[in-house]
Amino acid sequence: MIRFLNVQQINARFERELKNSFSDFLKAGTCVLGAQVAKFENNFAAYCGTEYCVGVASGLDAITLIFKGYINLGKLSEGDEVLVPANTYIASVLAIINAGLKPVFVDVSQGNFNVTSKNIAPHITKQTKAILLVHLYGELIDVPPINELAKANNLLVVEDAAQAHGAFSNKNKKAGSLVNAAAFSFYPSKNLGALGDGGAITTNDKQLFKKVQELRNYGSTSKYINVVKGVNSRLDELQAAFLTIKLKELDNDNAKRRMIAMYYLSHIKNNKIILPKYSGREDHVFHLFVIQTKYRDELKLYLKENNIETVIHYPIPPHKQEALKEYAMVKLPVTEQLHEEVLSLPISPIQTIEETQTIIDCINSF
Ligand SMILES: *Cc1c(COP(=O)(O)O)cnc(C)c1O
Repeated sequence: MIRFLNVQQINARFERELKNSFSDFLKAGTCVLGAQVAKFENNFAAYCGTEYCVGVASGLDAITLIFKGYINLGKLSEGDEVLVPANTYIASVLAIINAGLKPVFVDVSQGNFNVTSKNIAPHITKQTKAILLVHLYGELIDVPPINELAKANNLLVVEDAAQAHGAFSNKNKKAGSLVNAAAFSFYPSKNLGALGDGGAITTNDKQLFKKVQELRNYGSTSKYINVVKGVNSRLDELQAAFLTIKLKELDNDNAKRRMIAMYYLSHIKNNKIILPKYSGREDHVFHLFVIQTKYRDELKLYLKENNIETVIHYPIPPHKQEALKEYAMVKLPVTEQLHEEVLSLPISPIQTIEETQTIIDCINSF
């Protein structure tokens, strides 16, 4: 069986270092917001090329706290509209709603998974106050034209970089440093994954940095002094220590993912299948390798019968989920079609060339 993702094997590469850091953790005795969190925050800010990083409990919290931070700073108000790609994981949308803001869905163009400034522009109204960009599947959105649009309309821009750790723009800036603030998830299956939940906010905005630092810890500036209505969303010491170890391998891991993607792209030959567009640059970290086909369900079954596990990202778009039924009537035709046709093939830094070849042979014989 070729598994979609083998997290055990991915982490087994770090077994000795992870165990050593656990021993150090037991000796140190601090469990939350200690030296390991501070160290990881410094390392990750330096890695992304930002002034600041704040570790939090999850990717969802990271996005939510950015928006809550801007509300606390008076830069956003409850009920303001935030543009968000319709083609995303539901977390992007829930974060906007949970912060008290209103999501407005933006469809993608045919042939794209991600939104462009052209998709976004027609949705900007007087109520629009921010844009949430999602670098879906690990591919960076073309951010500079969107930043210009935002500047002209006085909008904040936030990145949901939960799938794009380490992706480089062609201006040599990394995901996390491209707009006002960015959110990362360290869910175990992400390109940089903890051994549990975790997330982070990166930004160059000192005011926002201070505010989200308070918000993640009960709104406190120091112990038992609470200045805003915060939450409990702290990255814990152990996960931070693990992430510091795994961060060192992130660039190599992303390079391996790109190599597998290139191999798929040059060897899959089946006219029933549309391959993802890829420039060959480092603006894609292939969190997922997503193909598109009208025969998606048949192909998925065929691969399964041949012992190859695949996953659909995602089977139901956020606006069609029961949880968001108030948006069910919004028409987002390209996104809706994508959710019928996309299929994610196995890709990871530990996938062998033999496994990749087996998958390709099977797809080519479909
Ligand atoms: C994983 C993910 C999130 C949420 O991250 P969690 O750590 O699971 O809360 C948000 N947005 C996108 C695009 C994701 O892939």
